[in-house]
Amino acid sequence: MASPTPPALPEQPQPAAIPTPPDGESSTVVWHRDHLRVADHPAVAAAADADHMLPIFVFDPSFYGTDGLACDARIGFLHDCLSDLDEQYRAVAGAGLTLAHGDPIEVLGWFRDAGWDVVAADAPTGRYGVERDRRARSECGVSFVDGDGLVRGVDRPRDGWQEHIEAWLTADHDTWDPEAVSVREVETGITIEDIDAAYGVDPTKSKVPTGGTTAARRHLAEFVDRIRAYPENISSPVDARDGTSGLSPYLKFGCLSVRQVYQHVVANTPECRGTKMFVSRLFWNKHYEQKLQDWPGWLDTAVNPVLEGFNADRRDPDLIAAWKAGETGYPMVDASMRCLAGTGWLNFRMRALCVSFYYHLLQQPWKEGADWYHHHLVDSVASINYTQWQSQCGLVGRPTLRRYNPRKQVRDQDPHGEFIREWVPELEALPDDHLDRPEHTPVHVQSECGVRIGETYPRPVVDYDAARKEFDERLAAVRADAADALGRPEIAGRASLSGGRDAAAAIARKHGSDSGGDTAEQSRLDAFGGGAE
Ligand SMILES: Cc1cc2nc3c(=O)[nH]c(=O)nc-3n(C[C@H](O)[C@H](O)[C@H](O)COP(=O)(O)OP(=O)(O)OC[C@H]3O[C@@H](n4cnc5c(N)ncnc54)[C@H](O)[C@@H]3O)c2cc1C
Repeated sequence: MASPTPPALPEQPQPAAIPTPPDGESSTVVWHRDHLRVADHPAVAAAADADHMLPIFVFDPSFYGTDGLACDARIGFLHDCLSDLDEQYRAVAGAGLTLAHGDPIEVLGWFRDAGWDVVAADAPTGRYGVERDRRARSECGVSFVDGDGLVRGVDRPRDGWQEHIEAWLTADHDTWDPEAVSVREVETGITIEDIDAAYGVDPTKSKVPTGGTTAARRHLAEFVDRIRAYPENISSPVDARDGTSGLSPYLKFGCLSVRQVYQHVVANTPECRGTKMFVSRLFWNKHYEQKLQDWPGWLDTAVNPVLEGFNADRRDPDLIAAWKAGETGYPMVDASMRCLAGTGWLNFRMRALCVSFYYHLLQQPWKEGADWYHHHLVDSVASINYTQWQSQCGLVGRPTLRRYNPRKQVRDQDPHGEFIREWVPELEALPDDHLDRPEHTPVHVQSECGVRIGETYPRPVVDYDAARKEFDERLAAVRADAADALGRPEIAGRASLSGGRDAAAAIARKHGSDSGGDTAEQSRLDAFGGGAE
C-alpha cells in the first residue's frame, strides 16, 4: 500500500524551466493521461500539425497515497507504460516524454502562460476526472480531441450507434509524421523512481504483466495464435488466466487502441467462433465507455433512482470484511476474492459471481464493493467496472437479473478444485466432492482430512436459500416502480441501453405499475428467469 506521508517532491517543471516557443511558430503540448501510445492517437496527430510538439505526463498526487484508489500494482503497471512511451517517442522522434509532478491544471497553466497550446485525447470519466477536465478547459484552455469512436454532444447517442462504432473501428488510424514536427522535451528532474520513492509505491501482487505497448503487442500476437480456443477458455478461472487475451490492462492505459486490436485480429485470424466472440467483446468495451460518456454518475449513483440505497440500511462491516478477505465459507467466492487481491485480475465469470454474492446474498451496498474492485483490479477502467457492477447488481431496473450460484460455479468451473486449492490452501485436503459445500462434509471425513469446518475454514456467513429468498422478496416489492422509473426519458438516457430509450420504454410498459396486474409473485419469477446461475 502506498505511503500516506506527503511526498517531498516539488511541483515540476517550474515555470522558469519551460521554453518559450519561437515567435511565429506554433507549439502544442500533448497531455497524456490514459492514452499511452504514439500511434493511432488523435491528440498526438492533432499536436503534430504544429511546428513544435511536447508530450507530457503529469504525476497527479490525487492518484497516489492512501486516497488514490489504485493499488500499487496498477501504479507499477502505469509506470512501465510511461517508460515504454518515453522509448516510443525517442525511437520515432529523438526526444522523449516530459515527466512532471503536481496539480496538472497548474502545471499545464504554466505551459499555457509560456505560449503553448495544450491538447489531450477526450475520454469519458467520472468523479474527480470530470472536475479536472472542466478546470483544464476553463483555466488553461486545453482542447480535448475527440477520436475514440464515441458519440458526443447529441441528444440520443444510441441512435445508429452500432453503425457509428463499426465505421470507427474499420477507419484508418490517426497518423502523424515525426519528420514534420520538432518534438521537444523539458528536463524536469522528475523520474519514475522518484515517484515510487516519494509515495512508497511497492507492488506486492503476483502474476502482474509488464506494462507498455511493446508488451501489449506481444500479448496480442500470442493471443491471435490461440484464438480458436478462446471460447472454451473464458469461463474457468484457471483456463482464462492464459486463455483470454490478457489485453485489459493494456487497453485500460491505451497502450493500444481498441481499433488497433480490432484491425489486427480481423486481419490475422481465421473466421472462427473465437474471433467472433473476441470482436464482440471489443464492441462491449466501447458500449460501456459510451455509457460513462452519456452519464458520469455511474460511479456514484444508482442508475435507477428507485434502487438508490437498496441494501444501504443492511450494511454489515463483518460481512463486507469477510467478502474482502475471502473468508465467507463459499470456496469459489473466497478463492476469487483472494485471487483478486493477490493478482489484480479475475476472469469475467468470477468477477460477476463475487458481485452477485456480495449484492444478492450478502445484501450489502454496491459502491463499497465496486470501490474494492476498482482498487485491486490492475485493469480497472471506471467505465467498465462501475457500469458492470451496477448492471450485475440489477441497479438499472431491467426485468431480468443475472445471478450466480456460488456452489454451482464450483461444480461447473472448478470440479477438481485446482483454483480453490491454489487460493484457499486450508481446503487442500478436502475431497473434491465436498468443495461446493464444505459445511456438509461428514464429521468423520473432516477428521480424516484434517479440515474442520468452523475452525480451519469458516462456515457460510449467510444461509444461501434464506438469503436468496429474502432478496427476491425485497426486490419484488420495488420492481414495478423501478420499471416505471426506467421508462422516464432522463433515466433511460443515463441507463444508455444498447436499444436506446425505446428499449427502456418497452420495459416500463411491460413491467411497470400499469402493466396489467403483474403480481409480486409473478414479478419475482419473471425477474429471475434470465439469471446466469
Ligand atoms: C464486475 C465486473 C467488473 C469489470 N471491470 C472491468 C474493468 O474494470 N476493466 C475491464 O477491462 N474489464 C472489466 N470487466 C470485464 C471483463 O471481466 C474483463 O474485460 C476481462 O476479464 C479482461 O480480461 P481479458 O482482457 O483477457 O479479456 P478478453 O476476454 O480477452 O476480452 C478482450 C477485451 O474486451 C473487453 N471486454 C471483455 N469483456 C467485457 C465486458 N464484459 N464488458 C466490457 N468490455 C469487455 C475488455 O476490454 C477486454 O480486455 C468487468 C467485469 C465485471 C463483471
